[in-house]
Amino acid sequence: MLDQIKKNIQRIQKLGATYVDTRWYPYEETNSLTMWNGNLKDASARIESGAGIRVLYKGAWGFSASSDLSNMGAMYDRALDNARIAAERVTFPVRLAEKDIIQAKFTSPNKIDPFTVSLNEKVNFLKELDGYLKDDAVSQRISDMNFIRKNICFVDSEGSEIEKTIVESFSTMQVMSQDEHGVTHERKFRLHKQAETRGWENYDLAVFKENAERIVRELKELMAAPECPKDERSVILLPGIMYLQTHETIGHALELDRILGYELAFAGGSFVTLKDFGTLRYGSPKLTARADATVPNSPGSFGFDDDGVACQNNVLIDKGILVGAISGRQMVEEANARAKKEIFKGSGGANRSTAFYRVPIERMTNINIDPGDDGTLEDIISKTEKGIILDGDRSWSIGSNREQFHFGTEIGWLVEDGRKTHVVKNSTYKGDTIKFWNSLSAVGDKSTWQVNYVSNCGKGQPNQIIQLGHGIPICRFDHVLVGE
Ligand SMILES: [Zn+2]
Repeated sequence: MLDQIKKNIQRIQKLGATYVDTRWYPYEETNSLTMWNGNLKDASARIESGAGIRVLYKGAWGFSASSDLSNMGAMYDRALDNARIAAERVTFPVRLAEKDIIQAKFTSPNKIDPFTVSLNEKVNFLKELDGYLKDDAVSQRISDMNFIRKNICFVDSEGSEIEKTIVESFSTMQVMSQDEHGVTHERKFRLHKQAETRGWENYDLAVFKENAERIVRELKELMAAPECPKDERSVILLPGIMYLQTHETIGHALELDRILGYELAFAGGSFVTLKDFGTLRYGSPKLTARADATVPNSPGSFGFDDDGVACQNNVLIDKGILVGAISGRQMVEEANARAKKEIFKGSGGANRSTAFYRVPIERMTNINIDPGDDGTLEDIISKTEKGIILDGDRSWSIGSNREQFHFGTEIGWLVEDGRKTHVVKNSTYKGDTIKFWNSLSAVGDKSTWQVNYVSNCGKGQPNQIIQLGHGIPICRFDHVLVGE
């Protein structure tokens, strides 16, 4: 197969293509199981294979993909034909940033491949979790597991040849109940791995049991809790909501294709402009954010992106100043050309596609925030006069250019004069992105830092779902409107 791919790449180059690449997926497998109130609601397995081909001809892309690889030559011809037609309409000729020629293999770290674990063992595991969540006060209990395993061979006309084998596992437990007004409340636990691996070895019943007991207890507290006050106060965001704040108002806002206007039709744009790099005060000096695709135990680390560029650890916001974007080979060249100066030095290695039959676009890697020097959660609480601790994503609404947001959280705990007092329900907060990040007044230390996963980030048209992570500390923001 690799021989055929290389021969076809050479043939298409001779026909005038300036760049050709191929992503051949020998397999991509998924396995999902959901237990709902003691019943196995879903147990599905899927496997697909195929190849996707990109051809660059006179500054325009052509693409073709198929799961039927019996006539590879025709697939390359189709991609070239598509590029030739697109070249007649091109408005901004595509140029690709320089990259290293790489011949390498990447395997995501895991000790026990979840695809070698029997269905029986997985179902029994979910039954155990369901038992932990069972309580008279809980009306719905849901536990799930999702696994992905894929093998991708990347070959391009510049001489790169990369093989990736990636295994991911995700799991959530959730409990729900209605209060006396019929309003549904929920608490969730998402598996986040402390170990350096991503396999079945992370499925530790003791970890799930401890967290099941906690979320059931917190759901019961919510049932008896008063409403969240409507006022202005400090918010202390725990990882279960801090990850989403980072995802929606730093991650998506800093995707370079969005900044250049390419996602307006579906995913939306960004308030960030090319003039902002190096000057915009995005947050307080306590904020350093990065796109770090080198975190070992996270799905935002994949060795090499779908341009064949090695994973990087790039600073996006340096002590509050915007300095970088989530980028691939094409968009950095276009951004520099439009800005008439070199803002970006080469690709950020973040071009990814969801499957062999989609073209890669700029996607988040692990969008992380550096831990700070404001101590533990208890330290931060003790220095908060009037605040609320928030956790869990319940609802979210974000401006299409990511300039404002409103989040509903699962639970809140009021803080008065340096003490955590009691639980409140229907807790929400809102703000303007830049003003909010500039109000960042405390960043927890490494002990509060945790990698949280996003298994279903959507972007692109047609929609592409991708997996990533957010390594984040506990953070406090001041003068925030809550309860509205
Ligand atoms: Zn997303």
